[in-house]
Amino acid sequence: MDQPTRQRRGLLIVLSSPSGAGKSTISRMLLEADGEVTMSVSATTRPMRPGEAEGVDYHFVDDGEFDRMIAANEFVEWAHVFGYRYGTPKAPVKAALRKGRDILFDIDWQGARQLEPDFGEHLVTIFLLPPSMAELEHRLHTRGQDSDEVIADRMRRAADEIDHWAEYEYVLVNRDMDACLDRVRAIVSAERSKRVRQTDLVEFVRDLIGPQH
Ligand code: 5GP
Repeated sequence: MDQPTRQRRGLLIVLSSPSGAGKSTISRMLLEADGEVTMSVSATTRPMRPGEAEGVDYHFVDDGEFDRMIAANEFVEWAHVFGYRYGTPKAPVKAALRKGRDILFDIDWQGARQLEPDFGEHLVTIFLLPPSMAELEHRLHTRGQDSDEVIADRMRRAADEIDHWAEYEYVLVNRDMDACLDRVRAIVSAERSKRVRQTDLVEFVRDLIGPQH
């Protein structure tokens, strides 16, 4: 889809949505489709759910370790979400930017807001909306991960998360996963093509038309 990698600045792609709007599916599909994007693995104090793996879904840490990571300035952002703490480790972000690779964040609006001052020029923020609240609830039921009580709670929190939609640059209504993925990929492609992100263009154009121009 994109031109072969030349030197460029990496993107920090933030994908936020209420739970059930398709964020994890779209993230997985984007990672499979695009070899230049890696996923940021957050640290969290929430307990591991069945099917999750340490270091893949999250780094599962206790409160003491999370406190230590805050004190050691190891997070680019962290926040309280649903009664637990979640934070984005700094080292992989710095490494990705250095290598001109893109990194995808499944974080909430609080995280997106905190990244803005330090990484604004690299940031691409995308919010996924469900087609309707009924469809969101339906998806939460059919994925079969949560009890009715947990789903009722997620639905209450969904409205709070959606309330922050206007803080994002790109907003997509996820009616169809494939179509939504296409649009996410189009956003990523356009953002990579921005002049300021292609750091070797000056040299390239100098070679193209000669130094006298
Ligand atoms: P879950 O516990 O269902 O995996 O995630 C709950 C919420 O926490 C999701 O909306 C997810 O986007 C958000 N989240 C996950 N990791 C981070 C993080 O490192 N920072 C912030 N601010 N939010 C996160």
